[in-house]
Amino acid sequence: MSKLLIVGTVAFDAIETPFGKTDKILGGAATYISLSAAQFGVKSGIVSVVGGDFPKDYLTQLNGKGINTDGVEIIEDGKTFFWKGKYHNDLNTRDTLITDLNVLAEFNPVVPEEYTDTDFLMLGNLHPAVQMGVINQISTKPKLIVLDTMNFWMDSALDQLMEVIAKVDVITINDEEARQLSGEYSLVRAAQKIHEMGPKYVVIKKGEHGALLFNNGDVFFAPALPLEEVFDPTGAGDTFAGGFIGYLAKSEDISFENMKRAVIAGSNLASFCVEKFGTERMESLLEKEIQERLLQFKQLTQFEIELS
Ligand code: AMP
Repeated sequence: MSKLLIVGTVAFDAIETPFGKTDKILGGAATYISLSAAQFGVKSGIVSVVGGDFPKDYLTQLNGKGINTDGVEIIEDGKTFFWKGKYHNDLNTRDTLITDLNVLAEFNPVVPEEYTDTDFLMLGNLHPAVQMGVINQISTKPKLIVLDTMNFWMDSALDQLMEVIAKVDVITINDEEARQLSGEYSLVRAAQKIHEMGPKYVVIKKGEHGALLFNNGDVFFAPALPLEEVFDPTGAGDTFAGGFIGYLAKSEDISFENMKRAVIAGSNLASFCVEKFGTERMESLLEKEIQERLLQFKQLTQFEIELS
C-alpha cells in the first residue's frame, strides 16, 4: 500500500456565508486534505502544528479515519493557527478577515521516521519554508509531489515559494492565483508559464466552474457538479487536492490518463464538502454516496456527436 504524507495547517476557522456563521471550528488545509484522501484507504500521516488550545478530540477524530497524527506537534503554551473568512453572495469569492499564524510562525516541521520514505507527498497550504523543510527530510524521491498554495504566500514569501514550486511535479491553485503567479490573464498562457517554473502538471481550480488539468500541450477539463445545496465552500480546494492525490496513491498510476480520473475523484469529493459548514459533511460521508455521485459526473459529461 502506498504511503501518503500531508503537510498543511490544522486550524481553527471562523466562517461567514450568506447562510450563516460559525464560531471557531475545526479547519485547516491538512485537515481537509486528509479527510478527503482517507476515502481511498491509503496509509496517510499529517505533519503540522497546533497550540495547547486545540481539542485533543479533533485529533482523535482524524485518527478514527485512519489518519496518523504523530507528526502534529502540540505547543502547549501556544495558540493554534486561526483563519476567519467571509464569503460574498456568489459563494465563489471570499474576503480573508483574519489570518493569525500563531504557532505556525515559528514552526520547524519534523517528519516521523515512518514517513521519510513516503511514496506520495502532498504539500498543502502553509508557509513555503515549512513545505521546503518537509521536502528536505524525505530520504527517497517520492513518486509524486503535489503542491497547493495561495495568494497569501505569493504576497508574503514569493521567493521561498518559487523554490518550492521548482521542486514539485504538480501544482494546484485557483484561477485568480494562477493569474497572479504568472502575470497572464489567459489560463492557457498562465499554465505555460507555471510549467516553466517547474511543475509538469498544473491544475487550475475554478470553484463552481470546475478544474483544468494542463500537461504541456495537453489539457483536460472537469466540471463541478451543479449542486442544490451549497452552504460553505471552505476547504473545497483542499478536499479536491486530497481526493486527487488520494486517488493517485491508491491506484499507484501517475500517468496523464489516470490524472484525469484523479481530477474527477477530487471534484466529486469537493462537491460534498461544500454541502455543510466546515468538515461536517466529509466526516459523515459514505462510500455509497461517493459512488452514486461519480455516476452523476459521468452522466453530466458524456455525449455522442458525429464529426463530419
Ligand atoms: P480552501 O477553502 O480549500 O482554500 O481552504 C480553506 C482552509 O485553508 C481553511 O480551513 C483555513 O484554515 C486554511 N487557510 C486559510 N488561510 C491559510 C494560509 N494562509 N495558510 C494555510 N492555510 C490557510
